[in-house]
Amino acid sequence: MTVGVDIHKEFKEYYSSNFIPVSRLSEREFGFGVLKKIDYRHKSFQSEKDFNDFLAREVPLFASYSTGFYSYPDRRPIEKKELKSAELVFDLDSPTFKCNHDSKELFCWKCFSDIKMQCVRLVEDFLEGDFGVPGSSISINYSGSKGFHIHVSEGPWVDLNAVERRRLCEYVKGSGVKFESVFTRLNPLKGPDFKSKGWSGMFRDFVLRLINESQVALKERGATSQQAKKISENKEALAESIKKGNWDRVRGLESFWRVLLDVFVENSRVVVDESVTFDLHRLIRIPESLHGETGFMAKRVDLSEVEDFDPFFDASLKGEGISFKNEGGVKIKGVVVEERVDFSTALFLECKKKFGYF
Ligand SMILES: [Zn+2]
Repeated sequence: MTVGVDIHKEFKEYYSSNFIPVSRLSEREFGFGVLKKIDYRHKSFQSEKDFNDFLAREVPLFASYSTGFYSYPDRRPIEKKELKSAELVFDLDSPTFKCNHDSKELFCWKCFSDIKMQCVRLVEDFLEGDFGVPGSSISINYSGSKGFHIHVSEGPWVDLNAVERRRLCEYVKGSGVKFESVFTRLNPLKGPDFKSKGWSGMFRDFVLRLINESQVALKERGATSQQAKKISENKEALAESIKKGNWDRVRGLESFWRVLLDVFVENSRVVVDESVTFDLHRLIRIPESLHGETGFMAKRVDLSEVEDFDPFFDASLKGEGISFKNEGGVKIKGVVVEERVDFSTALFLECKKKFGYF
């Protein structure tokens, strides 16, 4: 049974009327899929025209390319390709919390919203903030499904090896950020000062903002009544001493700092799929290509557009709406899909149906 949209026809029309640019195309390996995400790989192209002709002729449901740049991208096995360098890529695909969306849900807005927040944090706090990657070297693209891919395509980052890339992942995930690593001495308590950078510096800034909150708000964050009162009554002195690294100026707050650090790490970390980052031979969705499980374009997105990004509007092909008999009661964004759907929803449903999602 189908929903009523011809996926092949829509994809063919898109690839026939849109030119998809690919940087450093002749140095990349390509992979394509019809039945699954990658049915065959080790393919290469000499020009963007050849590549675009191929898309319009073959109409793959999934199109991927290597993040690695090779001397001989079509050679196999992989060692014979001779890797020169590789884009540094982060894949954001699953939320940081356990979502309880039901099995009828085809596109959970809550999960997607969390991924968007993580995407912004990854770029602003970690890539630009901590690693010093210039914004002009970072490109963000919607994966075409539930997440985002962040590419750093130039500078020293493309020469990092797998071990170094894994370390970056662990850093953004906040693995290893413990009370003992942020606070270097316990009695008296010595912690991050005005010079501290990275996680320690971020935690210092978080606490310096938070000590100005009301006693009620502090208690909601886990402070005892006595701790909330002490903070409120001594906030100027506390701020001054924290900037010097002395966190014991007001005694009896250590247990609150411990609670806050755990919450801070949980809310600030970014959960990336490490294997995508450290695997230098990975194939990844080509920006602006179509995703066969959704019908959405893997669109390039500016950082400022991420927060409001909605693939049903911003990454969809255009066309007429159709009638849809929702026998299974499937939901999109928490709402049961109605009998009349717009084109982007119709194509999305058709793709989901094809791959057995309902
Ligand atoms: Zn969810």
